[in-house]
Parts: sequence; C-alpha cells; structure tokens
Amino acid sequence: MADLARLWAPWRSRYLTTTGRHRCVFCTARRSRDDVRHHVIARGRSVFAILNLYPYNNGHFMIAPYRHVGALEALRPREWAELLGMTRRLLRRLRARLHAQGFNLGINLGRAAGAGIPGHLHVHVVPRWVGDTNFMPVLGTTKVISQSLDELFALLAERPRRMARRTRDRLRR
Ligand SMILES: [Zn+2]
Repeated sequence: MADLARLWAPWRSRYLTTTGRHRCVFCTARRSRDDVRHHVIARGRSVFAILNLYPYNNGHFMIAPYRHVGALEALRPREWAELLGMTRRLLRRLRARLHAQGFNLGINLGRAAGAGIPGHLHVHVVPRWVGDTNFMPVLGTTKVISQSLDELFALLAERPRRMARRTRDRLRR
C-alpha cells in the first residue's frame, strides 16, 4: 500500500494549478481537433484516453469522460460502462504493444484524496514490468522515462482515420 500511496501522490504541481473547466487539461483536449498534439490515444462516444505528460512510468495514461464531472456518482451508467470498456481495450493494447506485465489503476476522488484535477474525473492506468521499481524513484520528482511521449503515442494511438471519424462525430453533436 505504501508503494501505491506514493504512486498516486499529487506532486505534479503543473497539474495542481489547473482549476475549472477553462483550464482543465481534459476539457482542452476534448475540445481540440488535434489529437496528436494532446496525445489523445483513444476516443469513444462519451469517454476518451490521453497520455499523461508527467508519467509515473512508460505508457501512463488517463481515461476520462468528455463531461467535466468530478464525482463518480455523477457519471451516467453508459459513461461508466464505456469507461470500463475502454480501460479493458487499452489494457489489451498495452499488453500487446508495450508487453506490459501488470497495471496499477487508480482514481483519486477529490483534492483531499490527491486528485490533481478534482473537477474532472479520470482513471489513471500505469503499466508495470517486473523489476521496474528498480528504476522508479517514486519519492523524487524526476524519473527516467525511456520512451518519449511521441513514440508512445505512435505505439498506442488508434488508427488515425478512425480517430478522425470519431472527432468529427463528436464535434457534430
Ligand atoms: Zn474538464
């Protein structure tokens, strides 16, 4: 548990300063047409997945609803169902493409619980490999990430054409 507590510790100050939907990184990414720039790796009808710019480990991403809601109980059943479905789909992708051997999944609800962006619910997914804690200085604010975000994006993103279609559909609604 101690390891998990550190894993989700809110020391990523750049995220901590964002408040409200106008400066919310999720809402900014949701509204954007540029999924490459925002590292949006998957889009569904009501949820999407985005790489974490300040990853705890290679391949760390977050899944969030399009709606700016902070409470789990505020999610509509179909949003919750799609969020779980997308999580499962992306876990399979991480196993296949990054050969992930395990995962930490976590949701911080509320600032008291360490949520960096308490107004916009998101599930963290952190892939793990046996022995990776050896190079994870979880107490510090720097760590070695061997793959760049762009490389990860290329590895994990859905096919661009499919993404573009979903972005169009979303903007039309
Ligand atoms: Zn938001």
